[in-house]
Amino acid sequence: MEIRKVGVVGCGLMGSGISQVAVAAGFPTVVSEVNQELLDKGRASIERSLTKLVQKGEFSAEQRSQALGRLQSTLTLEEFADCDLVIEAIVEDLDHKKRLFAELDRLVKPEALLASNTSSISITELMTATRRPSRFLGLHFFNPVPLMRLVEVVKTVVTDPEVVQLGLGFARRLGKTPVLTADRAGFIVNRLLIPYLTDAVRAFEEGCGSIEDIDQAMKLGCNHPMGPFTLMDFIGIDTVHSIAEILFGEYREKRFAPPPLLKRMFLAGMYGRKTGKGFYDYGDAKNPKVNRLL
Ligand code: NAD
Repeated sequence: MEIRKVGVVGCGLMGSGISQVAVAAGFPTVVSEVNQELLDKGRASIERSLTKLVQKGEFSAEQRSQALGRLQSTLTLEEFADCDLVIEAIVEDLDHKKRLFAELDRLVKPEALLASNTSSISITELMTATRRPSRFLGLHFFNPVPLMRLVEVVKTVVTDPEVVQLGLGFARRLGKTPVLTADRAGFIVNRLLIPYLTDAVRAFEEGCGSIEDIDQAMKLGCNHPMGPFTLMDFIGIDTVHSIAEILFGEYREKRFAPPPLLKRMFLAGMYGRKTGKGFYDYGDAKNPKVNRLL
């Protein structure tokens, strides 16, 4: 089997990025949304993003218009019937996703692959909503999709090896570098990244160093582009907290649990850059000042 036509459900932040890289790589792609307004918004963001690539000289104007010509947008799932691969990128909600997969399973041709871009829900659990468990996998892209080179290809205990190869090959055809991971909470990246970030909070709570010094230490000592507190403010304290809860729920080990300070910041709505306050205060966005948290 070969992947020729792609479907993407959801045209938000991730769905629009996935659709963009698929059409740019030459795949005829159908993308759906819940209403016309969101569909138009998603398409406009793909158009803007491709325009930027033309301005940067990475794409010609003709390549941009050819790519957009391969993009079909729809409000009905029936349009996915002849896709070879359908990638779900809707809201992170188990019931929502299971309902969608049950419907896709009924509508899409039986040999097609179904994939989820979920960050935290078990691929195995989503797979149970379908009657094609061996043709189900995770394709976890990173934000912003057009720039981030990694795709985690997630296999379950029943994913067919041919399907795994198709997933890896598809990611490569998008110009990405795939890595293979088993269906475990956090996959590879978040399983390693989130405990590192939450450990920085514990180190701070234990008096190991100040927020600025821990950030500086990891930047200069490990050549990281930014320190852990700056990174958590970027990702969002709500997101870091939620992934830590999910990892703790899966592994039941203290090292995965959200530390008390992170939980209090989450409860207080201090989500980082998106709310203007996190480990740093972004009142003056160009010159963030550390918050007094202890
Ligand atoms: P988002 O809110 O920007 O987009 C989700 C979109 O799905 C919304 O526009 C919504 O209207 C649409 N939608 C909901 N139900 C739908 C349905 N039944 N049919 C069609 N469209 C529907 O969210 P996002 O950040 O793009 O996240 C989408 C998925 O990607 C989530 O599972 C998330 O965990 C995962 N993810 C997110 C990131 C990230 O950094 N944001 C990274 C990797 C993976």
